[in-house]
Amino acid sequence: MDRRSFMSHSALFGALPAGSPLELRLVEAFDDMEIVDSHEHLLPEEARIAQPADFFTLAGHYAMNDVTSAGLPRESLERINTPETPLAERWRLFEPYWKLARFTGYGQALRTAIQDIYGFPEISAQTLPGINAAILARNKPGLYRYVMKERARIRFAVVDDNYNAAPAKLDPEFFRVARKFDRFIAPGGASGVSAAEKLTDVSITSLAGLKQAAEKSFRQSLDVGMVAVKSTLAYSRELRYDEVTEAEASRDFDALMRGERKAPAGFRSYVDRPFRKLEDHMFHHVMKLAEAHRLPVQIHTGLTAGNGGWLTNSNPTHLTNLFYLFPKTRFDLFHIGYPYQGELSVLGKLFPNVFVDFCWVHVISPAVACRTLHEYLETIPVNKIFAFGGDYRFPELTYAHAKMARRNVARVLAEKTRDGFCSDKEALEIGALLLRDNAERFFTS
Ligand SMILES: [Zn+2]
Repeated sequence: MDRRSFMSHSALFGALPAGSPLELRLVEAFDDMEIVDSHEHLLPEEARIAQPADFFTLAGHYAMNDVTSAGLPRESLERINTPETPLAERWRLFEPYWKLARFTGYGQALRTAIQDIYGFPEISAQTLPGINAAILARNKPGLYRYVMKERARIRFAVVDDNYNAAPAKLDPEFFRVARKFDRFIAPGGASGVSAAEKLTDVSITSLAGLKQAAEKSFRQSLDVGMVAVKSTLAYSRELRYDEVTEAEASRDFDALMRGERKAPAGFRSYVDRPFRKLEDHMFHHVMKLAEAHRLPVQIHTGLTAGNGGWLTNSNPTHLTNLFYLFPKTRFDLFHIGYPYQGELSVLGKLFPNVFVDFCWVHVISPAVACRTLHEYLETIPVNKIFAFGGDYRFPELTYAHAKMARRNVARVLAEKTRDGFCSDKEALEIGALLLRDNAERFFTS
């Protein structure tokens, strides 16, 4: 193979899986089947198409994190992210690091989206103007119907609408809504408290006021159809939430309002939480609200997006007391806790209320996704595994992720069938549970 045909062939990875006949049949069956998407950040279509979109918009989520990890200087990133910068210059700054980062899962997803949705098997200085023209041409009403329904065949996606501070209805043809209450759990300082006041129109002068504001936001979220409570506090602090008395939490709240303790800046904030007792108490309060309304709770565990972070904060074993304290609450633990997927395997095995979620994982690493699914199928009952959540802001990348997930599930089930784990028919049934039925039941019952 000459270099050119090697390049275009390698850009076609995944288009024709080189697997066993059973794997090919499973891929076909899962491609035909509608799936349920446990987690997204997708904007409403009106918001997406109201903004200009080009190749670098799509690269911004998450491929640019790996391009940055490869060494892209911060000043170059700023130039790339300025749409007024000439396209040739944006590419010249991006290309040397993209070349190194394009093989990661994030890079694979971006290449798949550009190839399958926009028809460009190669991303280069020559093809970039055409890619941008194709993205622009689709950036209008109907984009979501085409990408999410016709191409990705997603029945519905549970969206963390972190772009909406106040609860808002989402289009039920595409979405169900998960809501976060982290702003009430960890207001950070007096300014966070006053933002929560403005948001809810509840006066907050005490711990009781903060709880009332959280409860009002919770009720408003129920009114827009919230199907799950979500928390991403692993981005800010350790996931261990101790039982803290009202008196102790009140002392923290009063100190916060008086500006007595200063929250540390930068990386120290990951470990030094001056109002931790307040946060712990409020987290338990939100868990009680979820329990009262029989809502499942989605919790970010493992790797955080972006660059940097404090990995050990996100270990899912920190959450163990909650599984005992709220036995009727179903916990959907995200991202298989990667790289704590072994710990999560044990939690999913031991606790009837712990469910394990591969959202984001097939683009973090297809190999980790396959290895871990092999392991989980042997350790965790099949009703508790969610095999797909896109975790993207842009539907083209959700499509690419869904394609990778369908292929990985087909590959693992074909390998397991070959090893005598189950029959061909059972492989199909398990795939339908993992990709559709488990999540559908979880979020609609
Ligand atoms: Zn997410």
